[in-house]
Amino acid sequence: MGQTGRFQQAVDYKMEVSMDVQSNQYTGTQELVYTNNSPDTLTRVFYHLYYNAFQPGSMMDVRSRTIADPDRRVGDRIANLQPNEIGYLHVKKLKMNGKAAQSSEVGTILEVELPEPILPNSEVTFTLEFEGQVPVQIRRSGRDSEEGVRYSMSQWYPKLANYDEQGWHANPYIGREFYGIWGDFDVKITIDKNYTIGGTGYLQNPNEIGHGYQDAGVTVPEASGETLTWHFKAPKVHDFMWGADDNYQHDKVEMENGITVHHFYIPGEKTSENWEKLKEYTPKAITYLSEHFGQYPYKQFSVVQGGDGGMEYAMSTLITGERSLPSLVGVMVHELAHSWYHGVLATNESLYPWMDEGFTSYASNLTMNEIMNRNSSSIHAGSYRGYFSLAKSGVEEPMSTHSDHYHTNRAYGSAAYSKGAVFMEQLGYVIGAEVRDRGLLRYFNEWKFKHPNVNDLIRVMEKESGLELDWYKEYFVNSTKTIDYGIKEVKADGATTQITLERIGLMPMPLDVVITYKDGSKEQIYLPLVIMRGEKEIEAGMPERILSEDWPWTNLTKTITLSKELERIESIEIDPSGRLADLERENNKVEF
Ligand SMILES: [Zn+2]
Repeated sequence: MGQTGRFQQAVDYKMEVSMDVQSNQYTGTQELVYTNNSPDTLTRVFYHLYYNAFQPGSMMDVRSRTIADPDRRVGDRIANLQPNEIGYLHVKKLKMNGKAAQSSEVGTILEVELPEPILPNSEVTFTLEFEGQVPVQIRRSGRDSEEGVRYSMSQWYPKLANYDEQGWHANPYIGREFYGIWGDFDVKITIDKNYTIGGTGYLQNPNEIGHGYQDAGVTVPEASGETLTWHFKAPKVHDFMWGADDNYQHDKVEMENGITVHHFYIPGEKTSENWEKLKEYTPKAITYLSEHFGQYPYKQFSVVQGGDGGMEYAMSTLITGERSLPSLVGVMVHELAHSWYHGVLATNESLYPWMDEGFTSYASNLTMNEIMNRNSSSIHAGSYRGYFSLAKSGVEEPMSTHSDHYHTNRAYGSAAYSKGAVFMEQLGYVIGAEVRDRGLLRYFNEWKFKHPNVNDLIRVMEKESGLELDWYKEYFVNSTKTIDYGIKEVKADGATTQITLERIGLMPMPLDVVITYKDGSKEQIYLPLVIMRGEKEIEAGMPERILSEDWPWTNLTKTITLSKELERIESIEIDPSGRLADLERENNKVEF
């Protein structure tokens, strides 16, 4: 392995957990086989103990009370939690290869001093016991949600922090993004027998459990005691979530390609009708996303009512359920689309939230247009509006900002969701839509299960397009410089027309300029940038293209000579496709 070699750590979790549905407390054991594939000797490791965030005075609590624009779901609610309402997760009897390890709990992180170092390319086994209390539902995880779901169990177990080529990622939890290690999970959950569980993984004992999991025609024996032990296995995931309720309706849909789609919801006036219809949309969305963004690699997906909005997990999602049909389908599609960017590519979302939320928004915009039969001509208009509003707000921060450290929720949200989606749609403008689409499939196939970063994405798109694209990342990701081009002057010059274009914004971009003639015909003048070292392919559905010479970004204006008389021209417009994120479009068009 060279100095720039990439590696991935590996985990293999075995957990047994027992939930007391009266006290909302649980105890468990964990055996974790950890493989250090790095070239480094490790003397410490870190576990996330996310539930400790739900305590008065935690970093998440203080952050939520001091940020200028708090999340309304959080606000000061953590500060006001009573001892039986807080969350906690504590670890006991931690050992590595049978030897006791020293550890200290620092908020949501357990810092562990190892009894002996873990050498490169070696494997150790950690064992521990844990005890937790499920907090009242405030953010993502918790008990007794507003819609009455008993348990939304995400971020519930001691979870080893990731170590990669950028070192440890032991971020204190303040309510934002996640990053995990690939591995296999074997989880046994013991809970009151009236509860139904849905979430990550494949149930190993469906005919013993029942609750809608049993094979057709099987009669499930009555449980002898008060509890059932559910045994799940989840290969090649980086997290494990479960939702549980004693009133869940469980609907199963088998897709032709062998994927089973599960829906779990509490039946009622505000849910039953739309959740029945949802069963039609989830398989459609899986099929569409698999065709356009890479094959969904698991054999099940579970849509589970719970949480406080929508949140993505391995093979599953927790969403609130009392919604109109378009809203219910919309949130399901968004969280499902995360399976590609959060689930399978699994970029470090703390460092690159826009590569998860932005690309997920991009994919869900397209999926919604398809499965809701919208036939929209401006599929990503909402994302562009969100970005334009951010860029003009004065609070924009670069997308390279670590998600925890954005100054406001707005700057984080609009950058991650809206500007991230615009990044991808606008990339299609730069390299051509079909090339971008091929690049997205190649990105998925080359980088699935490998935690790509921004450079990995850019390199795939460079290889697919044959263009140099580092400038696109430097400006659009690492800076808040904006785009504004205009038509400065149009002059008749005998049988020709002189068109002077002007770069007003600080970010340079290639230009598509479309000339519409009075006879109804159209031509496109294409001006690549010198720094692209090439030009995009001719895009389907575009007018005939005239290739201009490259535009050096240093030059603020560029004059092109059109071999047509001005009298024949009806209009001249920069980027009628609307994909260029040009902040001031008024100066983009002249009509005669
Ligand atoms: Zn999302």
